[in-house]
Amino acid sequence: MARKTIPSRSKGSAARRPAPPRRAAKPPAKSSRRRAPAAKGKAASVRGPKPWSAEEIAEAFRRFHAANPEPRGELESVNPFTLLIAVVLSAQATDAGVNKATPALFAVADTPAKMAALSEERVQEFIKTIGLYRTKAKNVVALSQRLIAEHGGTVPRDRASLEALPGVGRKTANVVLNVAFGEPTIAVDTHIFRVGNRTGLAPGKDPLEVEMKLNEVVPAQYKLHAHHWLILHGRYICKAIKPACDRCLINDLCRWPNKTVA
Ligand code: SF4
Repeated sequence: MARKTIPSRSKGSAARRPAPPRRAAKPPAKSSRRRAPAAKGKAASVRGPKPWSAEEIAEAFRRFHAANPEPRGELESVNPFTLLIAVVLSAQATDAGVNKATPALFAVADTPAKMAALSEERVQEFIKTIGLYRTKAKNVVALSQRLIAEHGGTVPRDRASLEALPGVGRKTANVVLNVAFGEPTIAVDTHIFRVGNRTGLAPGKDPLEVEMKLNEVVPAQYKLHAHHWLILHGRYICKAIKPACDRCLINDLCRWPNKTVA
């Protein structure tokens, strides 16, 4: 049987076939490219300024230490008990205002027994120039009575016992633990809260968060005095209104976008 020959395809026949429709070109990813910077900007604002490195933090505290090796608080006291009373009285008041009132009070009552023996009204007389003096007089007498009843007339060295006393919160306990007992605690007041957030050293939405952040980042050898360095820095240099950036020791390290660069 004769084999049927299948004609081979010629170049000419292939060329005559209609060309397949061209694929539509991919649209340029214009929209996603345009969105990218906005998304990036948003992420940057959520993250905030670049955190301080460990070297920068050590350098800041090295400078604070060099400028003031033994910083002191400004509340006047003669023993742990009067320190505790002075800190309780300083809530929402200035140290200077408290110092005007306390010498006369401590001259007659420098122990829990003597303070408890004074009536609330007598304590009020001594401290009436300080804000919230009625509530504070009540707390001062009550905490003196508690010290006698529960702690043998001494100031306890542990946070829980301190915070259980009338008128004593975490900040007061931190000051007493630090100043009276040499514990490396950091009491966050309005000045330290501002400095921590403004500089970017220890950002936090409330004083406890700033305290925890400072505890995490401040080098161990500087913890004992960190509270005083930061409070003095906030009170006299990094003030709430018109901070003195031109006299600031840590100007080059500070992350505040509105700082004045010398
Ligand atoms: S540079 Fe200005 S804003 Fe920054 S810590 Fe110093 S005083 Fe405060």
